[in-house]
Amino acid sequence: AANIVAIVGRPNVGKSTLFNRLTESRKAIVDDFSGVTRDRHYEMAEWIGKKFTVIDTGGFVHGSDDVFEEAIRDQVHIAIDEASVILFMVDVTTGITDLDDEIADILRRTSKPVYVVANKVDHAKRTHESAEFYAFGLGEVYNVSSITGSGTGELLDAVVSHF
Ligand code: GDP
Ligand code: MG
Repeated sequence: AANIVAIVGRPNVGKSTLFNRLTESRKAIVDDFSGVTRDRHYEMAEWIGKKFTVIDTGGFVHGSDDVFEEAIRDQVHIAIDEASVILFMVDVTTGITDLDDEIADILRRTSKPVYVVANKVDHAKRTHESAEFYAFGLGEVYNVSSITGSGTGELLDAVVSHF
């Protein structure tokens, strides 16, 4: 089976920043994947010799709040269907929002591995702030900074353990 990692979460948590970091060195060989859909981006990544496809969800069309939230829910359901591992990204600088809770409710129902990724943990001071994300009941919280790359190695170690 294909190794597919989907990054889900509400807008502006940093999904695309992590996606770019995970796939940046692989862009040349993944042109086959571009333009598959308007709303998602697929590219290859590799970690400790294991290759996998990363899906960046998002690029949602901004309409009414209802349409907006429905689009996000759709993306989460598609990710659950298509992915082998799901990264649920949240933002330590904003904490838990209603939309985060809604996404968590959906993700708790899948038997696929879900990793809670607390992004924007740019410095140690923010590490303890991410503890609130344990309230999702989705297990371990991985602290990362998609901008600096801090914490992404530990996350990837866990992700590729499924491949
Ligand atoms: P998306 O909507 O979830 O795809 O989020 P983006 O990747 O577009 O990022 C939203 C904003 O958060 C941008 O201004 C990013 O530069 C910023 N951002 C992403 N990751 C980090 C991070 O690790 N630390 C900080 N401080 N900002 C980040
Ligand atoms: Mg994005």
